[in-house]
Amino acid sequence: MKHFALTGAAGYIAPRHMKAIKDTGNVLVAALDPFESVGIIDSYFPEAEFFTEPEAFEAYLEEARAAEGLDYVSIAAPNYLHYPQIRMSLRLGADALCEKPLVLGEDELDRLAALEAETGHRVWTVLQLRVHPALVALREKLAAEGGHKKVVLTYVTGRGKWYLKSWKSDVKKSGGLATNIGVHFFDMLAWLFGDVQQLEVHAREEQVVAGYMELERAEVSWFLAIDDRYVPTELRAQGQRTYRSITVDGEEIEFSGGFTDLHTEVYRRTLAGQGFGLEDTRTAIRTTERIRTLKPGGRAPRHPFLE
Ligand code: NAD
Repeated sequence: MKHFALTGAAGYIAPRHMKAIKDTGNVLVAALDPFESVGIIDSYFPEAEFFTEPEAFEAYLEEARAAEGLDYVSIAAPNYLHYPQIRMSLRLGADALCEKPLVLGEDELDRLAALEAETGHRVWTVLQLRVHPALVALREKLAAEGGHKKVVLTYVTGRGKWYLKSWKSDVKKSGGLATNIGVHFFDMLAWLFGDVQQLEVHAREEQVVAGYMELERAEVSWFLAIDDRYVPTELRAQGQRTYRSITVDGEEIEFSGGFTDLHTEVYRRTLAGQGFGLEDTRTAIRTTERIRTLKPGGRAPRHPFLE
C-alpha cells in the first residue's frame, strides 16, 4: 500500500484524487489546503491528517516519511504552485503526481528534470485524455490511415462570473485560458498528430482564445471559450453550457462520454511506472507558453466561430 499526501484538498478536482487513491488500494496520510472546507476528506480518508499551513504540512511529511514512508504527493493546488510543490515533494523523497498544466513554462521542465536526476524521484502528471477509450481508438485509427488531416477543434465550457474573479483568470497564477483549459487539447493534438510546426493566435481575450496550428500530420483550427454565448443556439436553448466538437476531415469524433474515472486510470498507470512524465507534457507546455505571448495575427484561415 502506497502512502499519499495531497495539496489543494478543498478544491474542485481534489475529490477525484481522493477517489483514485482509494480505488487503487492506497492511503492518504495528509492533506493541505489554506481553505478549511474539507469535510469531503471524511468520505474517503477520515484518518488523514489535515493542515492549512504549508510549513506544518511539510514538517509532518518529513517525519511521516521517516516513520512509515511517503511515496507520492498529489498536487491539486493552483497552477503557479505546482512547480514549488513538486520541488518540495521530490526533496521529501516522494514522487509528485501533479495536475495539469504540470508547470507554466518550459524552463521549469528542465529544472525539474535536473531535480529528478539529483533525487532519483519522478514527476508525473495527469493527462487524462490520453487514457480516454474513444481517443485511444482514434489514435490507433489515425496511425493505420496515415496522411495529413484537416482538423477543427471547438471547446466552449461556460463558466460563471466567479471564474473571472478567481486565480483561474489571473494569467500569472493560471497561465490564462489556453493554458488552464486548453492544455488538455493541445496535448491531445500533439499526441494524435505530432509536434507543432507552426502556430498562429487569432484571438486572445479574457473569455476566448483561438488560432491555427500546423502539426506534423494535421492542420488545426482551434477555438476555446468560457463564454456560453458561443454554445450553438439550439443547444443553449436546451440549457447546455458546454459544447465540445472535434472534426477530422469533416467527420465528427464522438467522445462526449467516458470521462468518469480517468483520474483513477492515470493513477493506475503511474503506480505501474507507466504514467505521463516531464517529456510527455513538454509539447503542450511549450505550445501554451507560446500562445500566451504570441502577437495575434497571421494568414491562416480563421476558425468558423471567429467569422
Ligand atoms: P480550485 O480553486 O477549486 O482548488 C484549488 C485549491 O487549492 C483551493 O481549495 C485552494 O484553497 C487550494 N490552495 C491554494 N493555495 C494553496 C497552497 N499553497 N497549498 C495547497 N492548496 C492551496 O481549483 P481546481 O479546479 O480544483 O484546480 C486545481 C488544479 O487542478 C489546477 O492545477 C487545475 O488546473 C487542475 N484541474 C484539472 C482538471 C482535470 O480535468 N485534470 C480539472 C480541473 C482542474
